[in-house]
Amino acid sequence: MSLVYDYSNPTAIHFGKGQIASIVKHLNKDNKILVVYGGGSIKKNGVYDEVSSVLDGFNWIEFSGIEANPSYETLNKAVALSKAEKIDYILAVGGGSVIDGAKYIAAASLYDGDAWDFLDGSVTVEKALPLGAILTLPATGSESNGNSVVSKKETNEKRFFASPLVYPVFAVLDPSVMSTLSDRQLANGLVDAFVHTCEQYLTCPNTSLLHDGYAETILRGLLSLAQTWDNRKDAIWEENLMLLANQALNGFIGSGVTQDWATHMIGHELTGFYGVDHAQSLAVVQPQLLRVMMEDKKEKLALMGENVFGIKDDNEAVIIAIEKMYESVGVTTNLNDYENVDDKVIETIIPSLKAHGMTAIGENQNITLEVSEKILKMAMK
Ligand code: NAP
Ligand code: FE
Repeated sequence: MSLVYDYSNPTAIHFGKGQIASIVKHLNKDNKILVVYGGGSIKKNGVYDEVSSVLDGFNWIEFSGIEANPSYETLNKAVALSKAEKIDYILAVGGGSVIDGAKYIAAASLYDGDAWDFLDGSVTVEKALPLGAILTLPATGSESNGNSVVSKKETNEKRFFASPLVYPVFAVLDPSVMSTLSDRQLANGLVDAFVHTCEQYLTCPNTSLLHDGYAETILRGLLSLAQTWDNRKDAIWEENLMLLANQALNGFIGSGVTQDWATHMIGHELTGFYGVDHAQSLAVVQPQLLRVMMEDKKEKLALMGENVFGIKDDNEAVIIAIEKMYESVGVTTNLNDYENVDDKVIETIIPSLKAHGMTAIGENQNITLEVSEKILKMAMK
């Protein structure tokens, strides 16, 4: 394939310990800033205090309580506050949920209609407030991309929108804030970043040496972090996860290449209906999707086998190696291991995929509803 692409990643990255102080370079004392965060982890680990002290002298208010898998219902309360207070700048302090939520708030604050319009795809974002991000959980890459995933509690829908207008202006990646992360969140971050890379890499055979090598370096790095899981409290381990997860979804490895994202689409349904963590949903769907789509993905799976796992000419062994990697950090690949997942999975998820137009997904648009059903059945081991 000959590559054709436009690529721009405008987010300024401030990486390393002590970098929270850098946010003042981007903020203006005339601006009214809305600081948004989640359920309180930043109050326990000192990040809130650090941000408050850096913002001393700035004009800011706060909105807390953005939940994991941020909801439309909660975010609309922040939008009402932002509109009433005539906010000029949104500052997100948290993981992917808070940053995705901040993107929705930034766009919805300048929109007169129901901002779910962005999520159902009926309206494109035309303007948004500027936003910045202080990342506390490396996983999603949301800190320097233009994607946002929002859930509607009322209907169990989990949808996304993407816009160049919601790239954070800046992102602080200070790995020292990771020390309070639970094993579950660290493992989720590792798995999410691995799947993000696969969604862009395990697709068309001929991209470029740079695209493939870049993606393989990320995959090898994440595999190595899984293999050194016992060292996860070391600063160097944390620093590596923060770098790798950021690069997995900041745009370059997906530029000009056909992308998959079917694992994410099916996974979003599992989170929407059953509350399974985002990365947990990916770990049950992806291996089975790779099995079912093995013929389409055979060249790239073989390349991954050779350059990431050191496995030659055995694509089933590559998929087993991926499963073992997820299991080794405590993330199950068996959907039946989740107690709240009932035997109505198929009759719940498949109609929802259908209702939202996801009847032909994946890089070749050949993951039909029948194929999705097969994948989900295989995920229930
Ligand atoms: P998250 O939902 O943002 O956070 C999960 C939990 O980790 C929260 O309970 C949070 O607590 C806690 N936490 C965060 N930082 C912490 C820290 N330093 N110490 C202790 N606890 C901490 O997790 P995430 O995996 O980053 O984000 C998942 C969301 O992103 C999903 O909705 C997913 O669909 C979406 N996503 C977005 C993209 C994208 O490109 N935008 C890509 C993939 C997935 P608090 O609430 O108390 O802070
Ligand atoms: Fe993801």
